[in-house]
Amino acid sequence: MDRSDAEELDRADELAPFRERFVIDDPDLVYANGNSLGRLPRETVERVADVLTHHWGSRLARSWDDGWLDEAQRVGDVLAAGVLGARPGEVLVCDSTTVNLYKLAVAALDARPDRRSVVVASHEFPTDRYVLQGLAQQRGLALQWDGEPDRDTALCVRSLVDYRTGARADLAARTAADRAAGALTVWDLSHAAGVVPVELDAAGVDLAVGCTYKYLCAGPGAPAFLYVRTELQQQLQSPIWGWFGQRHQFAMGPAYDPQPDIRRFHAGTSPIVGIAAVDVSAALVAEAGIDRMRAKSTALTSLAIDRFDAWLAPLGFTLATPRDPNQRGGHVSVCRADGAELCARARDEEQLITDFRPPDMVRLGFPPLDTRFVDVWDAMERLSRVSRPAPG
Ligand SMILES: *Cc1c(COP(=O)(O)O)cnc(C)c1O
Repeated sequence: MDRSDAEELDRADELAPFRERFVIDDPDLVYANGNSLGRLPRETVERVADVLTHHWGSRLARSWDDGWLDEAQRVGDVLAAGVLGARPGEVLVCDSTTVNLYKLAVAALDARPDRRSVVVASHEFPTDRYVLQGLAQQRGLALQWDGEPDRDTALCVRSLVDYRTGARADLAARTAADRAAGALTVWDLSHAAGVVPVELDAAGVDLAVGCTYKYLCAGPGAPAFLYVRTELQQQLQSPIWGWFGQRHQFAMGPAYDPQPDIRRFHAGTSPIVGIAAVDVSAALVAEAGIDRMRAKSTALTSLAIDRFDAWLAPLGFTLATPRDPNQRGGHVSVCRADGAELCARARDEEQLITDFRPPDMVRLGFPPLDTRFVDVWDAMERLSRVSRPAPG
């Protein structure tokens, strides 16, 4: 194989035109970090400018009646249809992933009051672990690191795609096993949404959260999403009793009376500018088609693993990502003891942006709409260049 084979794959790629939909101002930079912060879609620049100028600037507070009050749910429905495999009225765009996880975790714990333990992986993303550690301490619950749920388990928190290794869980099977133990599961879709087809409804998922600034390209601090299965919505309650979750919000009444639907998981005023960016990205995924994106994504990661075998394994790297494409998401992680230094040198000497996760992991993310096969080729080649022993 040589680089012309990668060029050939790009010529045959039907998603190739989507690359032009993103702001790419440095042709020499290889950006393999879109799993951490996705690129800026060109349309987002226009849409956000439009929201600022025409909606905020001209319409001012009248914009709330023009539609702003419903934006969190409307764009939630766009995500539900094109990205998450959920039904209308099951997804809300609001708050951060951390806050949404907290809200759904508490709602789930309150629904299982006689159960006293929580299952989470010891290698789970830090914010997820911290939220659960806090809840366990506040409520006197036992944290079961890595265990299987049992008759005392109220809640399991799981990532669909592991942020470190890229390993992908079996959504339907895992959900069913947790449910068989009587536990509720909150899925964190942060490293899956926008790159892996997520069939929440078909997989029987009850609760999920995820962020929108990774593969979903909605920008730093863009609002996250939460999902609550329709049948559960009336049984569960958010621990944050905010006025945006109130049934008659503008009656300004004395007592909290939550909305009968997904809107009860709202807290405060919707971040309208950020939601506009989520809307653009969700529509972009829907237009490209998540199944086509997934097919290209697995081809990209397969090429990366092929080049790992050719270039990096001989230099002492190990592969942390599963070789079976069905068992991985959209990024590939390679390990070597000096990974942190290699990451910095790749950035400074080779114009390659990756990221490092302790103790030894270099992550390479390849979002399928803006990554070419030659980018994968170049990323792996540049990383191998900084990893060779110095001559002499
Ligand atoms: C990125 C990520 C988050 C981010 O949480 P924020 O509150 O949006 O900062 C949470 N969980 C997982 C698994 C992630 O990958």
